[in-house]
Amino acid sequence: MPTQTDVVIVGAGLAGLRAAQLLTQRGFTVRLVDSSDHVGGRVHSSTTDGFILDQGFQLINPSYPELVASGVLEELDLRSFAPALRFSDGETSFEVADPRYALMPNLRALGGQLAPSDAFSLSRLLLAARFTSATRLTRGADRTTLEGLLEVGLSPSVINKVLQPFLRGTMLDETLETSWHYAQLLFKSFASGRPGTPATGVSALPLALLNSSPALQLHLHEAVTALTATSVSTNTASYSARAVLVATDQSTAAALIGTPDTGWRTQTAYWFATPQLEKSQQFRIDTKRGVWNMLDVSSVAPERAPSGRGLVVASGVGDRDDALVRSDLARLYDLDEGDVVLIERQVVTRALPKLTTPLNCTRPASRGDLFVAGDWMQTPSIQGALVSGRRAADAITEQLAA
Ligand SMILES: Cc1cc2nc3c(=O)[nH]c(=O)nc-3n(C[C@H](O)[C@H](O)[C@H](O)COP(=O)(O)OP(=O)(O)OC[C@H]3O[C@@H](n4cnc5c(N)ncnc54)[C@H](O)[C@@H]3O)c2cc1C
Repeated sequence: MPTQTDVVIVGAGLAGLRAAQLLTQRGFTVRLVDSSDHVGGRVHSSTTDGFILDQGFQLINPSYPELVASGVLEELDLRSFAPALRFSDGETSFEVADPRYALMPNLRALGGQLAPSDAFSLSRLLLAARFTSATRLTRGADRTTLEGLLEVGLSPSVINKVLQPFLRGTMLDETLETSWHYAQLLFKSFASGRPGTPATGVSALPLALLNSSPALQLHLHEAVTALTATSVSTNTASYSARAVLVATDQSTAAALIGTPDTGWRTQTAYWFATPQLEKSQQFRIDTKRGVWNMLDVSSVAPERAPSGRGLVVASGVGDRDDALVRSDLARLYDLDEGDVVLIERQVVTRALPKLTTPLNCTRPASRGDLFVAGDWMQTPSIQGALVSGRRAADAITEQLAA
């Protein structure tokens, strides 16, 4: 195999894969090098005792514009969950549904729980997110999510009871210091599409990107140790190229090329085997002891559990006693604790790059004479990683064509 290609990409996560897809489709020769044993980076699935588990709990939103643009959505066999959040504190429970169809039911449900002004402000927030463009939502000075929620008129009570549990599970941020502009993009994607999981696990996404990248030269198990604008050295080989793209996570990029590292947010995920459940397709949020998001994955993707069994994932921030998570899950799904069996507990310490204020999605996709991509360049999400890959591919295309 020749050691010279047009481009070498370091990192086969979603950012590197999206860049590889575009560059190969444009006719460039591309080598993609990754230190791990799989493509997809943080988006990864594995099988344990017949259950397909993802590495950490994550959802794919079919409304992500860059996912649609990548052309692989149809390949994912994405199974969407009911567009509703069910909150429970052990005593009472209530549901917030998709604002496209359920403004009045939402107001009624929330009216029983919250002040009418809060119920109204919350529905207005979700509707505004749905119908306002991403450009407008991120215009003007950024602030923290907590400041943004207070500014739109929500009381501390509704923030603590409804918004904080949802956002904490999604942003993995206990204090809501994350960018308000990004929070609004999250509300937008929740209000615009029904998040789901592929029938064969989240790995379906990187594999579909890989399959749509013609003639890509892929090298796994090769850690890049040094690089320049035209050369890459790994633990086993050296490669040269006309352009080099660093598409690693932020900490590796910081070590390799000195870009900033903002630190990480951690997610803990528990995967449980249960009996097969019924009518359990909504996202359940347990607010009794801390906040844990729970989802019956097998309700939409029965393939992910052995026949007759259920697969439920509970995820949250920080550490918890396994027995407490199990007992809360049993309560939320009305099961006997003895029927809930822990399959795997995962502490993903490098889940999301910390994103505080201001959100900045316009940084150039290059640093000196190297190209750079990764979710940390955009937003800590699948959409952010894919966009960063596309921006880097465009910048490389421009340079190579010059
Ligand atoms: C637990 C968890 C839950 C999440 N939930 C959601 C969600 O619900 N919705 C959502 O939109 N997003 C979610 N995300 C975020 C999303 O998965 C990430 O933002 C995205 O996958 C990041 O892709 P990336 O390509 O930027 O980085 P990565 O996936 O980190 O890819 C970087 C790649 O670089 C490789 N690499 C590192 N060092 C080297 C080296 N020295 N040499 C060669 N290769 C190297 C790594 O092996 C890796 O493959 C979640 C992430 C996690 C972990």
